[in-house]
Parts: sequence; C-alpha cells; structure tokens
Amino acid sequence: MEKILTSLRAYTTVKYSNKRKNRSCVTCGNIATTEALFDVGEGIIVIEKYCDICAKQVQ
Ligand SMILES: [Zn+2]
Repeated sequence: MEKILTSLRAYTTVKYSNKRKNRSCVTCGNIATTEALFDVGEGIIVIEKYCDICAKQVQ
C-alpha cells in the first residue's frame, strides 16, 4: 500500500496526555515530537509519530 505524506505537525504531549504510551517514534523509539499524516488512499489517513531526526527523513 502506497503512503503519500500529506503533512507534518507538531506532536504535543498536552493534547495526547491520556495516551502517553504512544509517544514513541515509530522508527527508533525515541520520544516523538512530530506527527506525519499519510494518505494511503480511499480517504484513509494514517498518522505516524516521529522524533526530530526521523521526521526529517520522511519529508
Ligand atoms: Zn526516531
């Protein structure tokens, strides 16, 4: 399934304070600071979280 990066946005811990277990970067496991929104087709948006370093690599 092809993923198309649609946007990056800051990942705030306040907004997601009830989901702290999901704060890790999906690539390296560091604390996530950025959310990347991917369009995977059929109107489905997948959100993955990245740290600063990995966020630069997905752009
Ligand atoms: Zn990372």
